[in-house]
Amino acid sequence: MAESSTISGNRGLQVEEKLIFELDNPGALAVDLPEPGPIDLDRMGGVARRASTGLPDLSEPQVVRHYTRLSQKNYGIDTGFYPLGSCTMKHNPRLAEKMARLPGLADLHPLQPQKTVQGALEVIDTLAGWLKDLTGMPAVAMSPAAGAHGEWCGLMAIRAAHEDKGEGNRRRILVPESAHGTNPASAAMCGFTVDPIPAKANGRVDLDALKAKLGPDIAGLMLTNPNTCGLFESEIIEIAAAVHGAGGYFYCDGANFNAIVGRVRVADLGIDAMHINLHKTFATPHGGGGPGAGPTVLSAALARFAPVPYVAHGPGGLELVEGGRGGAKPFGRVKGFHGQFGVFIRALAYIMSMGADGLRQASSDAVLNANYLQASLGDVLTASFDGPCMHEALFDDRFLKDSGVTTLDFAKALIDEGYHPMTMYFPLVVHGALLMEPTESESKDTLDQFIAVVRGLAARAKAGGADEFKAAPRLTPRRRLDETLAARTPVLRWKAAVG
Ligand SMILES: *Cc1c(COP(=O)(O)O)cnc(C)c1O
Repeated sequence: MAESSTISGNRGLQVEEKLIFELDNPGALAVDLPEPGPIDLDRMGGVARRASTGLPDLSEPQVVRHYTRLSQKNYGIDTGFYPLGSCTMKHNPRLAEKMARLPGLADLHPLQPQKTVQGALEVIDTLAGWLKDLTGMPAVAMSPAAGAHGEWCGLMAIRAAHEDKGEGNRRRILVPESAHGTNPASAAMCGFTVDPIPAKANGRVDLDALKAKLGPDIAGLMLTNPNTCGLFESEIIEIAAAVHGAGGYFYCDGANFNAIVGRVRVADLGIDAMHINLHKTFATPHGGGGPGAGPTVLSAALARFAPVPYVAHGPGGLELVEGGRGGAKPFGRVKGFHGQFGVFIRALAYIMSMGADGLRQASSDAVLNANYLQASLGDVLTASFDGPCMHEALFDDRFLKDSGVTTLDFAKALIDEGYHPMTMYFPLVVHGALLMEPTESESKDTLDQFIAVVRGLAARAKAGGADEFKAAPRLTPRRRLDETLAARTPVLRWKAAVG
């Protein structure tokens, strides 16, 4: 229960909200239906329900209030600044939402005859064209459902390419220590072993250490660029050449594409496969498990192993190709139907409304905003690496040394100030990381307010305010949670009290 001195447990207009099952008011009904007549249970093949469904009985106003109050407890990009590093929490234009809701698109059924969905296939094909143009890559697998799924798809194509050459023994993948957790997980799911490579003091991959790990069993490298420290891998051309020289393929985690769209052609970096998180780079509300999409661009060496289905131009219009065609050897299928169509529409609407020049402007502004944060906080926080950053600013906890305040405490204090905290303790390569990604869609005013708050908190921490930090958050419906208990012993199911 929230700590509160009120009789009701409510605080101001914040209402203490129970689970809807606990609100159950037997006999109250939101609908008024006639009593059903007698049912011939035999006709239901023995599956007729005999016990109550356990669904709560509530009136319509009770249901409306319950869900409206829950929605008010949800902090999102539409309520405030959300500097969550590595997540690209940018504004999602309403135009994209409107397009995704057009009945002619939203009401389609994936099993409709192809001649009746030519427009939808054109959406997929046009978006694929943009993704190929923006990366300079010759092919794209559209169906992966998220970034992690795209990683898996790209690695499966790499595995298929090695097997096709009779080199299926190549099963070792190099992954930098700073990588997102999905990278080693995807590699392991593809049957590869993961070999970590260290970073240099400047936050980039150690090229000599990487070269020392190359060998005849190397399947490839997974590298994020810009990397998870918010830095461009300046030796990426040499890295690609070394991996190719050892017979491996180069997978790039493209989650940070928002920093380089319109400025860097992925193909020029020697990359063989890269997923693009459409939900991060091209708008779609995400976080909390919302839908994503992870189309994966492929180099000429990997293109023929791309999964089915894909859209192709045929004599009768656009068609979905389900098998190998023209020497292609698809490694299989990664998803039911054709991919995350609703996210495709949003991405295409965003891309077309921005135009190529607008996309380039967005990535430039994202980098500018991150550098504005880094420069404005550099004298009170401790930036982990020298020099300018890309789309996100990385600080570590040296500025909190001897204050008794941890990165976690600092993040909790930000909540009381009305901000979703930045990403903390990631990447693992710096101590007590604070990773801030403002994106291009925040105004200078918003950034200045945030900077003032962070500066104020840093001053408070250094002035001996540890107790106050340990008690934060004070103003939320729930105070500090036992996050370890919640993660280890989650309560996922409501059960009625017996009796
Ligand atoms: C977000 C992210 C991923 C995973 O993408 P999902 O769409 O969440 O599966 C992988 N790598 C990096 C660096 C990311 O930021």
